[in-house]
Amino acid sequence: MTWDIGIIGLGTMGSMAMWQLAKQNVSIIGFEQYGIGHDRSAAGGESRLFRTAYKEGEQYVPLLKESKLLWRELEKETGNKLLSLSGGLTIGNPDDDIMKNVIKSAKHYDIEHEILDYNDAKKRYPQHLIDRNEIMVLDKEAGFLRPEYAVVSAVERAKELGATVNSYTPVTNVEQDGEKVIIQTREKEYKVNQVLIATGPWIRELIPEFSPIVEAKKIILSWFAPHNAEDFLPKMFPIFTRTSGEYKFYGGPTVENSMVKVGVSNSIPLGDAKNINRTVEPEEICENVMIIKKFFNGLYPDPVRVNAYMDAYTIDNHSLVGRIPNFPNAIVVGGFSGHGFKMAPAIGKIAKDILLNQKNNFDINALSPLRFQKK
Ligand SMILES: Cc1cc2nc3c(=O)[nH]c(=O)nc-3n(C[C@H](O)[C@H](O)[C@H](O)COP(=O)(O)OP(=O)(O)OC[C@H]3O[C@@H](n4cnc5c(N)ncnc54)[C@H](O)[C@@H]3O)c2cc1C
Repeated sequence: MTWDIGIIGLGTMGSMAMWQLAKQNVSIIGFEQYGIGHDRSAAGGESRLFRTAYKEGEQYVPLLKESKLLWRELEKETGNKLLSLSGGLTIGNPDDDIMKNVIKSAKHYDIEHEILDYNDAKKRYPQHLIDRNEIMVLDKEAGFLRPEYAVVSAVERAKELGATVNSYTPVTNVEQDGEKVIIQTREKEYKVNQVLIATGPWIRELIPEFSPIVEAKKIILSWFAPHNAEDFLPKMFPIFTRTSGEYKFYGGPTVENSMVKVGVSNSIPLGDAKNINRTVEPEEICENVMIIKKFFNGLYPDPVRVNAYMDAYTIDNHSLVGRIPNFPNAIVVGGFSGHGFKMAPAIGKIAKDILLNQKNNFDINALSPLRFQKK
């Protein structure tokens, strides 16, 4: 049998693309090396920040607005609660580019927001110890997603709509074969008309040509016990990202009425994903402990849980979305550089549009892998 579309990697992006494609009149087969919703790569760790006033650049805002609608659509189709909009803070010095970008994108795209000066911020969110020269921007359209549940929801919905899923099935090779593509697993070979490669941190393994422009990085998340869990519920303690001098960190409220998650924004380069050591060594969490002591009120500074995850980072920290050079029937979605989860359903829809030659509403040229080709 020849399938219309093969999807390699059913993590964040592959699951969303599969859901979007399954609504169309095409046959789809997907491959995942682990179980659906596993937490060994980019979709683990209980929650993901959803922000619309975007410090990474205002060009992402239309994608994020579309994603918000699509997250709601997936919730409606599955009955699962995936996105909680309890607000989001960006904390920092108003003269920093990050703060300027956030305020600019909130104003430009009419995102409901509030700017809190030092005194207001201190009063309203006493869980954060802020400096006199810092402010907070409250994005009222922000919140958090449940990543593992989102992946499972999208894949299960796609299966209901007719997609075929092979979990615990690593793909060992993929190549163009005349007008078709051959996908090789340990046991079997599959033939498809087109393939979507969404292998996240493992992107270089199937497409070695990307090695100079993308690599896997390890990211550690830590969970801390609060003095009083009530102070860290979503309505009291919105998700946040903060840049204070040399420190960059982020986190969110307790999602299970107990532990509070904080991550430090410095990822550890691995080259290939296979190089990861999932054990978190004590020296890798020193900075997190110091950050809790220095910047928070009401959290015990020793983490009660630490875990290591991975994402693929490109050299310009923007993703790879589009056709793969010299591989006519293949497209890639990858290299989301630590900030892709929130936009996953819109990326899944764009992948569907490219594969089925449908019109899409976003200018994604800036994300094309071709941008790295020598002129
Ligand atoms: C700790 C952490 C915190 C983050 N926080 C945020 C946040 O708050 N907000 C936000 O928007 N983004 C955040 N991100 C980024 C976001 O989670 C990622 O950008 C996004 O999940 C990447 O999705 P992906 O599909 O590329 O990779 P993945 O979700 O890892 O999916 C790739 C899948 O491919 C599978 N695979 C790989 N190779 C093969 C193969 N050969 N055969 C079969 N299957 C294969 C893998 O097992 C995996 O399931 C965070 C990332 C991390 C790691």
